Amino acid sequence: MHITIGGAVQGVGFRPFVYRLACSLGLSGWVTNSSHGVVIEVEAEPAVLEAFLLKLEKERPPLSFIASLEYSLLDAEGFEGFTIRPSTREGSPTTLVLPDIATCEDCRRELFDPADRRYRYPFTNCTNCGPRYSIIQSLPYDRPGTTMQAFAMCPACSAEYHDPASRRFHAQPNACPSCGPRLELWDVHGSVVCARQEALDAAVALLRDGKILAVKGLGGFHLMCSAQQEEVVQRLRERKRREEKPLALMVPDLAALSQLCPVSAIEERLLRSPESPIVLLRRHPGAAIARSVAPGNPWLGVMLPYTPLHLLLLRECARPLVATSGNLSDEPICIDEHEAVQRLAGIADAFLVHNRPIVRQIDDSIARVVLGRELLLRRARGYAPLPVEIPREVTDLLAVGAQLKSAVAVARGRRVFLSQHLGDLESAESRQAFERETSSLQRLYHIHPERVVSDLHPDYLSTVHAHSSGLPVVSVQHHYAHIASCMAENGLEGAVLGVSWDGTGLGTDGTVWGGEFLETDATGFERVASLRHFRLPGGEQAVREPRRSALGLLYEIFGRALPGEADLPPAASFSEQEREVIFRMIERGVNAPVTSSAGRLFDAVSSVLGIRQRSTFEGQAAMELEWAASDCPTDPGYAFALRQRDGCLELDWEPVLRAIINDRGLGAGIVAAKFHRALAELIVEVATRRGNRRVVLSGGCFQNCLLLECAVRRLQEEGFTAYWHQRVPPNDGGIALGQIYAAARAGQLPTAARGGK
Ligand code: ZN
Ligand code: ZN
Ligand code: FE
Repeated sequence: MHITIGGAVQGVGFRPFVYRLACSLGLSGWVTNSSHGVVIEVEAEPAVLEAFLLKLEKERPPLSFIASLEYSLLDAEGFEGFTIRPSTREGSPTTLVLPDIATCEDCRRELFDPADRRYRYPFTNCTNCGPRYSIIQSLPYDRPGTTMQAFAMCPACSAEYHDPASRRFHAQPNACPSCGPRLELWDVHGSVVCARQEALDAAVALLRDGKILAVKGLGGFHLMCSAQQEEVVQRLRERKRREEKPLALMVPDLAALSQLCPVSAIEERLLRSPESPIVLLRRHPGAAIARSVAPGNPWLGVMLPYTPLHLLLLRECARPLVATSGNLSDEPICIDEHEAVQRLAGIADAFLVHNRPIVRQIDDSIARVVLGRELLLRRARGYAPLPVEIPREVTDLLAVGAQLKSAVAVARGRRVFLSQHLGDLESAESRQAFERETSSLQRLYHIHPERVVSDLHPDYLSTVHAHSSGLPVVSVQHHYAHIASCMAENGLEGAVLGVSWDGTGLGTDGTVWGGEFLETDATGFERVASLRHFRLPGGEQAVREPRRSALGLLYEIFGRALPGEADLPPAASFSEQEREVIFRMIERGVNAPVTSSAGRLFDAVSSVLGIRQRSTFEGQAAMELEWAASDCPTDPGYAFALRQRDGCLELDWEPVLRAIINDRGLGAGIVAAKFHRALAELIVEVATRRGNRRVVLSGGCFQNCLLLECAVRRLQEEGFTAYWHQRVPPNDGGIALGQIYAAARAGQLPTAARGGK
């Protein structure tokens, strides 16, 4: 019997499992890794072969995933015994590259066992855990195709590697203190201070002493420091030029975490999962964390140690540490220690590095639990590059995503491989990362795109890249890409009502969209409703200054005669001359683009309620509006006005804004909560008028869990089925997936013939 198994079957101990199973059943033959997956030939009586097949699927290794299993019966060759054959590399790869996997229980136990030969060894791993995507250079997944090729295994490691009874049988990154990667502590000039255990001890001492350490981890550098010393956290913020954006924490274990935040069962599962993302958790009011970690923020972004190095550091520091990405604000994280010494000079006091090269930057993923499910906000370590299966087939395609929170995707057949988060395409480093990942994904999967899918916006650097590729470009409208992304994730086809709310995206009419209701059909979409337009004085500047959005909206209602001018926060925050300049911008339409953005509406309400006039990071004003509202009842009260205009429903915020101005005395929280409810009612109202029972929620605004919960609850109460994101972010990090699915839906591409080699 010849068997080919596709799916996540490499790097998860699949061949050793096959070996043990075959031996236990007394089968002869062989198993090998190929670009197509695991290939097996076995000989035995038919009943034994059948038992073998059944057990293959039933008893497969825990991290494996069988996407396809094909078998055929051949003439017997008369094999003797069962062997693992060397890998073959012909043909284009159909196996899946696995993400990096958090250290398993067995490896953790050994790490802290003084009798184990890997006691306190920061690079221990096995077939159930350890680095994968961050070290893979080419498929099939074998040691020579990884950055572990430089390390020759010692006799002890080699024996484990070849022993089918060992947990490290064919564990590609297998290593130990005598043959594997090693730690070094470097000073700010990149000179070695000490190595191995000494380096670890010195690093712990530095952290305990209030120093900032750059630590080379799994997919890049972290900047780490004590999370309980206000002075060092402030120093880190100043040096990293990061004003108020929250910093992530790594805590020693769940017991330490429960001191900081209550943790539900599902959150605990997520924190301890092989993906081990940063999870956003509500903090205890008195949590012992430096104020500057997340100023004014009721949430903490927390992760548990997920590599042996982090386990050791955290166990020995015995306190929560700040573990933020090793970069200057908005640049991609450093992956190379020599580059880190340059780029992080002036931020870190010392560098804890190792000599296992990292192939690609992979940030920590960020998730939160909403409506009893995981909602990914940043998709990277642990998730990328596992594919999303879409309901239609495509020939080879590349999608380049948007501009901010960049991620790219390649697709073949029904599989879309969405890259990890690559950052905002604004710095030269991010653009390099974007280009590296775009070609790396194609190379890894031997995908030769016939077309490139990009955003409609001509100035996005991703779009510019698409047009310079020499391939035909398919342009997909931004908000439709959001909806298509959520449809793809939920396996939806045909007609849905899509609610696509975010900060900005270029519309098909040349204006800036952002508060859209799109109805899909079998191949495309129609814009059926949209927020009433307003002008954004200052354009890009308005994104950083919510008060500008507020003036833009207020002007539409009141003209220059703002109500209660002196104490209306957005007006009061400008001088008279500044207001004059802004009004003139609006009136002349100079540097004041027309928009229907829901994100900017959130900003404006935040400003009117006196919550935030200037933002120091993206989404801050809307986030603070959500926090203000989160303990208040979401009572109904405010209602948008709906009217038909140019064949499209216009959703007028004027009555809502007037009511908010009147209600300011009630307190920002109460009004903010009612505003969230009004948006949920608006969704229900449009859905009721349109009649489609399937409502898809996407776009950056649906990172707001109060809005998402309220909208889903109200839709369900009214008999609609609501769909939202889980393992693909609702923000622009999910756009590339939507671009692929939108292109597939448009049917501009001949679908690939199934099967065959
Ligand atoms: Zn392990
Ligand atoms: Zn060794
Ligand atoms: Fe967007």
